[in-house]
Amino acid sequence: MITPRYHREIPQRYRLEAGKCTGCGKVHFPPRRVCKECFGREFETVTMPTMGKVLTYTVIDIPPAEFDNLKPYVVAIVELENGVRLTCMVAEAPPDKVEIGTKVEMIYRRLQTGREWEVLQYGYKARVI
Ligand SMILES: [Zn+2]
Repeated sequence: MITPRYHREIPQRYRLEAGKCTGCGKVHFPPRRVCKECFGREFETVTMPTMGKVLTYTVIDIPPAEFDNLKPYVVAIVELENGVRLTCMVAEAPPDKVEIGTKVEMIYRRLQTGREWEVLQYGYKARVI
């Protein structure tokens, strides 16, 4: 589903950009307007590392219709090298190739084709390395 929030976050989704608080150094992904640690409002844009590891994951056997051709697939919480965690699909890997601690690389892939607008949505996925 395409939401206003999704549109706002497109640059970050494309480039894996995060907001680093200039007050306390906390890195927020997606970027926030106000730091949740120190309530600061000044941020610098930082590009996140592309390497990380699987913290935990689940196998999706019954996906929403638009992902039906991918099943079964893995959705993982990945911790990047800078400690930022994000949730994403693990691309091009059968479920038995993924376990806790598996090293992954973030890649840029087509996520789905939006039927209503006939637009392609791109974003990051993880790939087992
Ligand atoms: Zn802060």
